[in-house]
Amino acid sequence: MNLCDVKTIKDVMSIFGLTFRKEFGQNFLTDKSVVEAIADSCAAANTKTVLEIGAGCGSLTHELALRYEKVIAIEIDRGLIPLLGYTLGEHKNVEVICGDVMKTDIRALLGDAFERGGVSVCANLPYYITTPILLELLGSGLPFDCITVMIQSEVADRLCAAAGHRDYGSVTAYLNYFGTCQKLLKVPAGKFLPPPKVDSTVVRIDLYKDKLYKPLDEALFFRTLRAAFEQRRKTLPNALSAGISELSKDELTDAILACGFAANIRGEVLSTADFVKLSDEIYKRIK
Ligand code: SAM
Repeated sequence: MNLCDVKTIKDVMSIFGLTFRKEFGQNFLTDKSVVEAIADSCAAANTKTVLEIGAGCGSLTHELALRYEKVIAIEIDRGLIPLLGYTLGEHKNVEVICGDVMKTDIRALLGDAFERGGVSVCANLPYYITTPILLELLGSGLPFDCITVMIQSEVADRLCAAAGHRDYGSVTAYLNYFGTCQKLLKVPAGKFLPPPKVDSTVVRIDLYKDKLYKPLDEALFFRTLRAAFEQRRKTLPNALSAGISELSKDELTDAILACGFAANIRGEVLSTADFVKLSDEIYKRIK
């Protein structure tokens, strides 16, 4: 069964009495070469388990099952579960869980997968919830090898932007704290059923095995990042004083100058390394 074939997808959906649910961002991939390319490049050499978010009718799950020891797929749409039993029945290494990834205890779900080998995440993410899912995965502290996701191209531009670029923002700096992000391929809207309004890009985030950045106080580092971007139009001392109440604006300016940055600098030109440096200077002044 070719699960990327438009007629096959329509047929299985109809057999199970299902329609595409917009509220779940159901745009299924219809290009086998794209699905194969994602499955080929979504993991590290030692990856044994792949966690898939949103199995849909199982096209990507099928390709992952052919390549990796174990695939655990979470799918929110209860109606798709029997369909997935039908389309993926041949794969004994696939486990499909019905649930909302945002409410799932991923650590518990993966069980001893990390002890058995590397774990990667692979997904054609629903657009409505892309950033929250990525933030959840990155912030989970789980040692994934890599996270490969198909997302709206505009979001991909943001994730991969360099400091100072107009697409650069708090999510970019946050992501760079955990790993590096690269674009793998662009996928036009016409390759999905039904076609979405926007084009998509597959990005791969390679997580650092050992932490690259070690701020003196990690929570303060995240607060500094948030404060700097929450008030983007303000200069950094003004933006920071709204989020870091322990120091006066003068003390925050002093911390900025101690890093070698201009007092009127804006957060969007600072890299993750710069933010670590800055949050360390702030930490020293709070202590
Ligand atoms: N993997 C399939 C493909 O590539 O054709 C389907 C991708 S479709 C863009 C996104 C899938 O994620 C849908 O099947 C949808 O039901 C599911 N989904 C949406 N929100 C979800 C959530 N919060 N947790 C788990 N799955 C979700």
